[in-house]
Amino acid sequence: MNLQNLKGIGEKTVEHLYASNIYTIEDLLTYYPYKYQILEPTILETSESNTVLTINATVTDIGKVSFIRKNFNTYRFKATAYGKIFTVAIFNRAFIKPHMTVGRVITLIGKYDAKKNVFTANDLKLNAITETKIIPIYHAIKGLKNSTLEKIIKEALKEKDCVYDYVPQEYNFKYHLLTKDIALEEIHNPKDMAVMKKAEQKLIYEELFIFMFKIQYLKSLKDQEIGIVKKISMEQVKTFLQSLPFSLTKDQQKAIDDGLRDLCSSKRMNRLLLGDVGSGKTIVATTLLYANTLAGYQSAFMAPTEILALQHYQSIRDLLKGTNIHVEYLVGSMTKKEKEKIAVKIQKGEVDILIGTHAILNEKIFFKNLAFIVTDEQHRFGVNQRTSLKEKGCLPDMLFMSATPIPRTYALTIYGDMDTSLIKEKPNGRKEIITKIVKEKDLKEVLFKVLEAIKNNEQVYVVAPMIEDTNESSLKDVNLLKEKFDLAFHNKIPIGVLHGKLKKAEKEEVMNDFKIGRTKILISTTVVEVGVDVKNATIMVIFNAERFGLATLHQLRGRVGRNDKQSYCYLICNEEKERLKVLEESNDGFYISEKDFEFRGEGDLFGVKQSGDMTFKIANLKRDYSILIKAKEDVLNYIKSEKYKNDKKYQEIVDKLDFTN
Ligand code: ADP
Ligand code: MG
Repeated sequence: MNLQNLKGIGEKTVEHLYASNIYTIEDLLTYYPYKYQILEPTILETSESNTVLTINATVTDIGKVSFIRKNFNTYRFKATAYGKIFTVAIFNRAFIKPHMTVGRVITLIGKYDAKKNVFTANDLKLNAITETKIIPIYHAIKGLKNSTLEKIIKEALKEKDCVYDYVPQEYNFKYHLLTKDIALEEIHNPKDMAVMKKAEQKLIYEELFIFMFKIQYLKSLKDQEIGIVKKISMEQVKTFLQSLPFSLTKDQQKAIDDGLRDLCSSKRMNRLLLGDVGSGKTIVATTLLYANTLAGYQSAFMAPTEILALQHYQSIRDLLKGTNIHVEYLVGSMTKKEKEKIAVKIQKGEVDILIGTHAILNEKIFFKNLAFIVTDEQHRFGVNQRTSLKEKGCLPDMLFMSATPIPRTYALTIYGDMDTSLIKEKPNGRKEIITKIVKEKDLKEVLFKVLEAIKNNEQVYVVAPMIEDTNESSLKDVNLLKEKFDLAFHNKIPIGVLHGKLKKAEKEEVMNDFKIGRTKILISTTVVEVGVDVKNATIMVIFNAERFGLATLHQLRGRVGRNDKQSYCYLICNEEKERLKVLEESNDGFYISEKDFEFRGEGDLFGVKQSGDMTFKIANLKRDYSILIKAKEDVLNYIKSEKYKNDKKYQEIVDKLDFTN
């Protein structure tokens, strides 16, 4: 049934609903209230601070309206209740005056000031309520009043039977859930708050069930994807690992084992390698790249920026120095000639491992037998990249690496369709980074430490949140900071400046100067955030630290502490923020991400972009985590049972699923 067929709904209203993406009765009925106003007649007394009174009163004098200015009028009249006669004032309700008659019993909602004997109403019901009334409050839809919305939803509720209950019967029984139609009725029009809660439980479970179904269904498809069964000499892999100057941590070893198993199995690898900064993911990836080469196939390694690609290229090449594996580097900014030369080698199979940015998939590169792709920093493949891979005629094993520790809830949702390997412990011998919150006025202290470190031949990162001059004088931009530091150190210390507006070649030069120690201090915007590796750096100074999320600060901090010296991180801020203390207390990215989650809720999490599918109508991942876990288990059983195959509604979900990421 169409919205237009609902009683009392006009064309204009329909337009407003369309504008809010409400097209069907079902859309309308799943436009849930976000809170409720409970009206319960109370006694008349002076309102304490913020308590809003609801009282029934009898009109004794219909009073008059004063028009103060355009769009602003006050209506004042007199009423009596609880033996008192008082003045009622209400703004912008001139239109109710014609309905007022002496002796009419109305309900007033607002605050009473006994001294002035004035009741300032923010709402008024011409028909007095006699018992407790629960009014659903909806997020505003442009052009529609809450009461209109309430009215049309009530109308729509008459058609609630046509709305499908996605919860399979067995789970409705298992958890004693309300049926969908009753839940809809009670969420919009609750008898009492206890029943509303039951309705809410049902609808939350349903929403999470559908959500998990999509994820797990995708995963089940990926699990069925056929990969190449690779023949790898485990002896050689072992020999390679023994040649390293360090021994692997347990987590690294396990991650490598997971990856090797994937490479050798007939199932295509679809794995996430999650590990905090500095946990040693590179060696895990390198070992797998090596193994893939041993099996006789080519690999690609993709990083989000050219700087990172270059760094990975250098470290992977160094790690594989003792082997006869040919590693190449290819990025968009290289000359056409250079690219062509490499392209030929790739096509001939002379390149074993190609390292570059994501651009390498879009370049005119044809691999001889690409069978393994590693992507750094969780960049998933978009539609085009998938297609271009298919065109290249292969279904390679995929390893995604991420240093963004995310709370368990999010891991389950964002990465729910992948297998995961987790590196929790850091390589030993590593000292914890000492973190200190420093007030801006105590900056001298920090400058002194910086000087000391540089005298010890160590290096320093300085991060500023903005690049351009802003009117906010408290914001330090990189150029201003450079002047400050030059002044403080009498121009004696070479300082590099890095920001997003520099050209690629300039950026590389600045980075390289810092890497080889030509500059001692690198002042930058957050472009250093992901993956930059300068082992000699021991101090990280972050200005306006209160502007950053905890996870970002933790990532930035991870740029130091990459050698056996003691490293420090200074968080410079004007006002001390409670949440920053988490960083003083802990170096554990997963703990920090949980805390960040607590402080910031599920809004924007470390720039992890929520896809459209991640916005919920009624569920809240943080609050409803335990329901999410149950829903996941139930979904796994439901998929195993294959019952969804006979369910038209679930087939519709499957048909609409986006297989591209
Ligand atoms: P990330 O996980 O941030 O990518 P890296 O792979 O860059 O971390 O490793 C950080 C540093 O730790 C590198 O210099 C690497 O050589 C070193 N490293 C990795 N694994 C170990 C280990 N098991 N023991 C000692 N040092 C290690
Ligand atoms: Mg890394």
